[in-house]
Amino acid sequence: MSETPVELRESKKRPAPASESSTFDDLKIQDDSILHKHSDRETCPDCKKSAMYFCYRCFKPSTISEGHIPQLELPIPMDVIKHEQELDGKSTAAHAAVIAPHNVKIYNWQSIPQYENPEEVLLLFPGHDAHTLEEIPKGSFKKFVVIDGTWKQASKIVRLSPQLQNVRKVTIAPRKTLFWRYQSLSENYLATIEAIYYLYREYAEAYEMNGKPYDGRYDNLLFYFRYFYNLIQSKYKKENKKYTHRQREGYIQYDDSVDAKVDENKSVDA
Ligand SMILES: [Zn+2]
Repeated sequence: MSETPVELRESKKRPAPASESSTFDDLKIQDDSILHKHSDRETCPDCKKSAMYFCYRCFKPSTISEGHIPQLELPIPMDVIKHEQELDGKSTAAHAAVIAPHNVKIYNWQSIPQYENPEEVLLLFPGHDAHTLEEIPKGSFKKFVVIDGTWKQASKIVRLSPQLQNVRKVTIAPRKTLFWRYQSLSENYLATIEAIYYLYREYAEAYEMNGKPYDGRYDNLLFYFRYFYNLIQSKYKKENKKYTHRQREGYIQYDDSVDAKVDENKSVDA
């Protein structure tokens, strides 16, 4: 499981986005044909662990795809705190560290940094004391923190970590997840990379667009997520498999709206 619990109160000022679209067609995500060329795992030159698309330890793209993966500079750096039981290969937060290597750092729970000025840290977590970015003055914070784990794991980390006791909480508008790993809590519980993406998107909308519509500047955060999503869609369509109880009803779209140019034999875990 790898969803971040971002089930959030309705924002009074801003309704949930009209485009609750179930595909990525409206997003500006770089061409991912390089990912289709992967056929086997390779050994990471740095840590010697084996992985297909990118190394889950070093957060570096495979040698085949290096130079073809979007690289983003984010306006606010982010720390991801990972529960130790969260399997590396299942974590979608890793996508952000590969795509924004200068700005996203991943820590195990045991090694959360000590924040010198916790009031300048915004923790993405729901609650009565959480605010949306448009309610928070620009420049009043210098770091985002996101928890990667199940809802239960994440709650425990937030409750028990002294480093997180005096940080402020930020929340995002409710959105439906496209995550393929089913959890039974709510379709508004997003995969961690979806939550990260929407946080930066709301950052752009709150502070960077000057009243203009959002321009897609952070959409590449979903580069790997879209690829894996399409891979799964295609696999299920090809095999005409019925969705099991582990997946949400209606999740697979059988209408060919999703690009099916994927190799169905590939694993979704890098
Ligand atoms: Zn490595």
